Order: sequence, then C-alpha cells, then structure tokens
Amino acid sequence: MALQQELRVALLLFDIDGTLIRPMGVGRRAFERALGELYAGRSRQPFPFDGLLDTQIALKTLVAMGIEPTARAVEDLLALYIRRLKDERPSNPEEHLCPGVAALLASAPRRGHDLALLTGNVSQGALLKLAFMGLDGHFRARREGGELLGAFGEDAQARAGLVPVAVARCERAFGKRFPPERTWLIGDSPRDVEAAREAGVRCAAVATGLTEPSVLQALEPDLFLLDLSDPAPLWAALNQGLPA
Ligand SMILES: [Mg+2]
Repeated sequence: MALQQELRVALLLFDIDGTLIRPMGVGRRAFERALGELYAGRSRQPFPFDGLLDTQIALKTLVAMGIEPTARAVEDLLALYIRRLKDERPSNPEEHLCPGVAALLASAPRRGHDLALLTGNVSQGALLKLAFMGLDGHFRARREGGELLGAFGEDAQARAGLVPVAVARCERAFGKRFPPERTWLIGDSPRDVEAAREAGVRCAAVATGLTEPSVLQALEPDLFLLDLSDPAPLWAALNQGLPA
C-alpha cells in the first residue's frame, strides 16, 4: 500500500508567468521602468519574453539596445528591476491569477503531490510576484515559511538546465526520489515543452500564456490544457501507466 501511494506521487514544477499569473503584467512594467531609468532615450526592437530566463531577457535587451551585456550590466538591470517590482503590487490580485490556479495548488498536496517552481524569474522576482497573488505559501520549503523551493532564473544558463537543479533541491527538501517519469513541468510556453523534453521529464502545456493553443498543441506535450480550471485531465495524466 505504501509503495502504491509512493508510485502515485508526482513532483509538479510550475512556471509562473502565463501559467500561474496572467502574462504581460507587473513584471514587464517593472522591467521597462528599470530600463528607462538606466538607459533613458535608448530604443530597441521589442521581442517576446515568454519562456526566457530573466538573465536571458536582460542580456538580449542590452544587446538590442547596443549596450555591452557585461555581467555587471545584467546584474544592475535585474537589481533595479527587483526594486521597481516591489512597487507593482496589484490592488486586485485575483484578476491576475490564471483560471483554476488557486484551487489546483490547494488540492495537489492533498493528493500527495509535491509542488515547486521552475521559472525563468530570478528568485527575488518569483517571490514578489507570488506574494502579490498570495501564492507563495504553496512553494515555501517549510510549512511555516522558508525560501521558495525550485529553480530560478539565476540557477542555469537555459531553461532545461533548471530541471536537474529543481529536482535535486526537491529531493533534499521532501526526502524522496522523483524519477523523470514522475516529474512534470507545467508551463505555457514552447520553451517549457522543449525544456521538459531536453531534460527527459514530462510536460503539461497550458494555453493561458501568449502562445496560440494550436502552436502549443502541435509540440505534442504529454498533456495539453486550455487552462487549469478543470484539473481532472492532469490527475489522470499523472496516474497514466500506473496500476489502478
Ligand atoms: Mg511562462
């Protein structure tokens, strides 16, 4: 029975922007403000941020503005971004949540699943965004608080590199093993699907971000969902291939 129970446990690694929180919100505004303050008057070709790590966004932006993307320049830009993000607390946080997210995060642990983050946000940015929405408690390393669990923008050079970091941290924190077939990335961007595939773990793609549903679906993730308002297909997918 204990083994059956253990088999049914999955590690759910959540992306933040476009997956838990609606895209194009607080983060983008804080980033643009930081840029405006540091590099007033410099223009650039805009490019989509979704699925990129904060460090990649900062680096690509500096390059697009004709500024040498030194480690120091990236660091300074992200530090000011975090300061400006603190001013972006929304007055109506529930409107920024993607459908079904609050209920899903509450019910997953009751089913025995463990939650953590796999996000391109630097950890300080992830904490601010989740705290604004009242979601940070679901991802704390300890029930009574502690740091956020998972892998963040500063932990790797590319998204797939975040997966082993998150899994190792979660195995330490939860005291159990999460084999690749029991590890799921839940994200809204083609980059989430690609990262899961590259890292050899499962992926649930959810079309609440900036990517057209048909584009996401065409990538053939292990599970495709329009949003998280009905978690039943996710629970079913997690148990697929396991004895009933
Ligand atoms: Mg995303």
